[in-house]
Amino acid sequence: MSGAQTDGTTEDAVGGNCAEGSGNCSEALRDLERYLDGELPESDLGSIRDHLAACYPCADRATFEEQLRAIVRERCVERTPPDLHAAIRERLDVMSGDPGPSA
Ligand SMILES: [Zn+2]
Repeated sequence: MSGAQTDGTTEDAVGGNCAEGSGNCSEALRDLERYLDGELPESDLGSIRDHLAACYPCADRATFEEQLRAIVRERCVERTPPDLHAAIRERLDVMSGDPGPSA
């Protein structure tokens, strides 16, 4: 698949902000990887946890990323084809409505 379909319409984008979440989704998603890696400073843990508790899309993504990490870890990263990783990333970005460049 080329995946070259970019119509630029992100009507239901979750990337901007969510009504219920504390803080905003792009911040939470930006910190998510470090959070899952245990690299996020303690001062930031509270805000991302609060956000994940309040924001379903972000919590869902966090769960997905966490499971993905577990699988990759189990199967040994070296054996994961780069294409697969890229494809999963791409899908995640679509799911979360990547905010992209905002004017
Ligand atoms: Zn969110």
